[in-house]
Amino acid sequence: MTATPPRWNILYRGPLSSCNYACGYCPFAKTRNTREELQDDTARLHRFLDWVESSAPQEIGILFTPWGEALVHRAYREALLRLGRMQHVRRAAIQTNLACGLQWLDSADRGTVALWCTFHPTETTVERFAAKIHLLQRMGIRHSVGAVGVKDHFPLIAELREQLPPETYLWVNALKKNPDYYEQSHLDFLTAIDPLFLVNLRRHPSRGKNCHAGHTSFTVDGEGTARRCHFIKTPIGNIYEPDFASRLTPRTCPNTACVCHIGYVNLPELSLNQVFGEGLLERIPLDFRFASH
Ligand code: SF4
Ligand code: SF4
Repeated sequence: MTATPPRWNILYRGPLSSCNYACGYCPFAKTRNTREELQDDTARLHRFLDWVESSAPQEIGILFTPWGEALVHRAYREALLRLGRMQHVRRAAIQTNLACGLQWLDSADRGTVALWCTFHPTETTVERFAAKIHLLQRMGIRHSVGAVGVKDHFPLIAELREQLPPETYLWVNALKKNPDYYEQSHLDFLTAIDPLFLVNLRRHPSRGKNCHAGHTSFTVDGEGTARRCHFIKTPIGNIYEPDFASRLTPRTCPNTACVCHIGYVNLPELSLNQVFGEGLLERIPLDFRFASH
């Protein structure tokens, strides 16, 4: 009897790089894609979706982590709906600024499709953003909500917390370039907003430690090149090669530290699968009111 293969968590990032917003803290180059570039991105996305479809019965969870904003493009909205119809796809999530309309989600599979929604205070208002979150809640679409912990934005983050449903977890991503950026009063404010903030603030020492990245979790780019995670450039294989599954093996991390949620959730020593459960990819904890780490 053969053992059931572990679920694969896949982070897909194609060449799409354009965004309808222009946040000052954006880590990615703000670019405009030409029509040809968008068509190329769509073709690569469709190839990836075909591969996912043909990978059944392997259980798969997917998080789209685009360089820019993807949900303003129909191809990505349709991709989530299509993935939601695949029985072996357990989660189809995407990072988004939520600027798009939400009506297309009417036909989304509620058990599979999820949104990772980031509030960008210089590009929208608390009212407009919170109204969309309330709509997602009424529609029964899984979603997480978060913001970047810029000190100048604290009043707006507090206002957002006020306007969100009380049961909605609000994550905050720490600014980590300057280790002295936050004073104790800032940390007190941010941990009151996000009980898991200190987990995000920490640079988790990872060199030589066991990590699920490259075994049960991996990234895929527009060419199908697979890497363990977004933070290690060395490819481990290509999903379009027939022997790809054999490239997935237990590994240890070669980097000094792991600093992003999408990376450190793969470190078994942090046991964050127990905090997030089925919401690990889209960043929804099982119960944030009691989460502490
Ligand atoms: S919404 Fe995201 S991708 Fe777009 S400019 Fe802001 S941070 Fe960058
Ligand atoms: S610890 Fe982080 S950087 Fe290291 S392999 Fe895992 S996900 Fe990648």
